Amino acid sequence: MATPLTDSERRKQISVRGIAELGDVVELKKSFNRHLHFTLVKDRNVATPRDYYFALAHTIRDHLVGRWIRTQQHYYEKDPKRIYYLSLEFYMGRTLQNTMVNLGLENASDEAIYQLGLDIEELEEIEEDAGLGNGGLGRLAACFLDSLATLGLAAYGYGIRYEFGIFNQKIQNGWQIEEADDWLRYGNPWEKARPEYMLPVHFYGHVQQTEDGARWVDTQVVLAMPYDTPVPGFKNNTVNTMRLWSAKAPNDFNLKDYYLTYRYHQIVTRYSNMDNVMNSYYSNKVFEVMFLCSQVAIQLNDTHPALAIPELMRILVDVEKLDWEKAWDITTRTCAYTNHTVLPEALERWPVHLFEKLLPRHLQLIYAINQKHLDNIAALYPGDMDRLKRMSLIEEGDPKRINMAHLSVIGSHAVNGVAQIHSEIVKSTVFKDFYELEPDKFQNKTNGITPRRWLLLCNPGLADAIAERIGDGFITDLYQLKKLMGYVDNEAFIRDVANVKQENKLKFAAYLENEYKIKINSSSIFDVHVKRIHEYKRQLLNCLHIITLYNRIKKEPNKAFVPRTILIGGKAAPGYHMAKMIIKLITSVGNVLNNDPIVGDRLKVIFLVNYRVSLAEKVIPASDLSEQISTAGTEASGTGNMKFMLNGALTIGTMDGANVEMAEEAGEENLFIFGMRVEDVAALDKKGYNARDYYDKLPELKQAMDQISSGYFSPKEPELFKDIVDMLMYHDRFKVFADFEAYVKCQEKVSELYKNPRKWTKVVIKNIANSGKFSSDRTIAQYAREIWGVEPSAVKIPPPNEPKA
Ligand SMILES: *Cc1c(COP(=O)(O)O)cnc(C)c1O
Repeated sequence: MATPLTDSERRKQISVRGIAELGDVVELKKSFNRHLHFTLVKDRNVATPRDYYFALAHTIRDHLVGRWIRTQQHYYEKDPKRIYYLSLEFYMGRTLQNTMVNLGLENASDEAIYQLGLDIEELEEIEEDAGLGNGGLGRLAACFLDSLATLGLAAYGYGIRYEFGIFNQKIQNGWQIEEADDWLRYGNPWEKARPEYMLPVHFYGHVQQTEDGARWVDTQVVLAMPYDTPVPGFKNNTVNTMRLWSAKAPNDFNLKDYYLTYRYHQIVTRYSNMDNVMNSYYSNKVFEVMFLCSQVAIQLNDTHPALAIPELMRILVDVEKLDWEKAWDITTRTCAYTNHTVLPEALERWPVHLFEKLLPRHLQLIYAINQKHLDNIAALYPGDMDRLKRMSLIEEGDPKRINMAHLSVIGSHAVNGVAQIHSEIVKSTVFKDFYELEPDKFQNKTNGITPRRWLLLCNPGLADAIAERIGDGFITDLYQLKKLMGYVDNEAFIRDVANVKQENKLKFAAYLENEYKIKINSSSIFDVHVKRIHEYKRQLLNCLHIITLYNRIKKEPNKAFVPRTILIGGKAAPGYHMAKMIIKLITSVGNVLNNDPIVGDRLKVIFLVNYRVSLAEKVIPASDLSEQISTAGTEASGTGNMKFMLNGALTIGTMDGANVEMAEEAGEENLFIFGMRVEDVAALDKKGYNARDYYDKLPELKQAMDQISSGYFSPKEPELFKDIVDMLMYHDRFKVFADFEAYVKCQEKVSELYKNPRKWTKVVIKNIANSGKFSSDRTIAQYAREIWGVEPSAVKIPPPNEPKA
């Protein structure tokens, strides 16, 4: 009779990380040793941990290659419609663990590396993040690639191989310091250079008009070199391609001043995308341009790659000699555009003089596109000169500029926002006139995150606890988490979820102690605010709350207080003065209260340095409370909010972006929603926002502001935070004070619920159970059906070395 399984054996059996088959373990060990010898040219006496990382990376990479070739061969034979996701950012983070997860090799690799006497987590930590993005937009592109492959779509990510990723952030005396991110220093085992697909890209020169149409001549040529990175789907043997371009100007290239050089780099790399979309199309089959839009879909991740539109027109009109109407029809039916922001300062407007010089033919084409567009408006709205001016692609002024958002709307058959509320705002504000003109063009595609990286990889304990109850189908069908509603009152599940969270908190506390030499109270609320530092995201509102908590403890030191550890992290754009001051304020406040003996371990404030994908994977599973507190109407969607929800943190947030849909899914009573709605913000704007009213009316707000402005947190330099104080008091576009009172009261409710761990965890379970909508698989299936006209497929491509079925 078989002996009963121990707990850990049972867990291994249901483990969502794959099963460690003996044969796989033996093969992995062999391959690892082979790579250490032949690839790294080392033996175990002299190998460094980095050598071991590379040996493991190559071992795992070998498992991708056959599937990658097979997948591309499959696309060649079946010739499905191709999806090109054009993005200036792909914020991929690390690749090793993600590859093991998606190939189901994680447990086998764990075991192999353990048997070799090494620590796999230590090796994983050696990998550099691929930081080819700034934040949400770039991370979205990375999540989309994972979902595109998992849904079996013939998709390609097209972008730029930046030699330096987003800067590494250091903190010195509380100030942000930026250091270059030399991520390719030790080599990148995941990419394959493809010099054979190098392409010429043309710049400068001038346009000749001939009987045969326009000829762009006397150009200077830049060579664009593609590097391919495999993108595996989850256990479906599909491996798609992310193709990143590197541009090198020949030595004699005319680069006059720095500004031009900078814009040039942006343009050359953006522009090199298009030639190749066409090129891979040429190489795949006989070129039948009439069918381009039925064979290819191009999705523009914001306006950054909007040059694809005039470039496609150039190829169709100048090279393929199509008449204008046909070319325009094909272009608009091929392209679609995703809008990511309504903040006016973030909408791209490129100076016309740049185009005149660098891309004169594209400028002509844009003028021609604009002329036909304005003729159309003039015919529909006779005499409405204001409307013509508002809708033009060209903005008069000094300098004259091209409105890239208008170009993107006109050149696309679909325009989408990234959350319901944002898509409505887009229609009623930035693109109001365009919506009136073509209402059917406008869509919504609420953002999502990949549950592979953001649950399976970063929170295996939670993934296992869930799989033990509902099986592992939720990994590719996240709506199945709904079944957990049947476990809200299940004591064993409540205990498991609470235990996993506690383990994650202890692990993160150990990390903090190691990195920051700070001891934190692991039974405190881990209150986490991580995202780019920006006024609209309102880290200052959080800061005012922290100061308020501090003042309350000081006022009544013996009163019961629910302990909190407040973690704030994020990078400030190097030229964004106010964001840098906000970091300095957070670190200064932390210095005062972390060292105040009266406070003790009841309240700690830690600035998490160098927030990036790999740090998000550590902190989010350890969080109790997720801060999503932007001014209503400013955060298009957010995706950080979704990662926290899926990982068992409760949300304190405004009715903004996807928070609205999170509340709709989980029930508003299961989130801590506070503050002005979009309508309230509009009403307040109409009435006139006066910060002073709140300052005079709310004593705790006044006290906190007076402390900041009098140097309480910067005794050596009392005026240090003058710019922050002046902004908050006299020109705060994001109305921090208007939400202060509601925010502080809402935070009291958070503390109240946290006092009852069982009740807290039940709310956590309800949130997890209702987070299914926020899988990027759902988002991508909607893009596929509603914009690209393709159907996701659950069919597995046959694995390599196995006969075709
Ligand atoms: C998800 C993510 C973001 C986006 O966070 P938001 O809160 O939606 O702004 C930014 N940076 C990193 C590293 C992320 O993983």
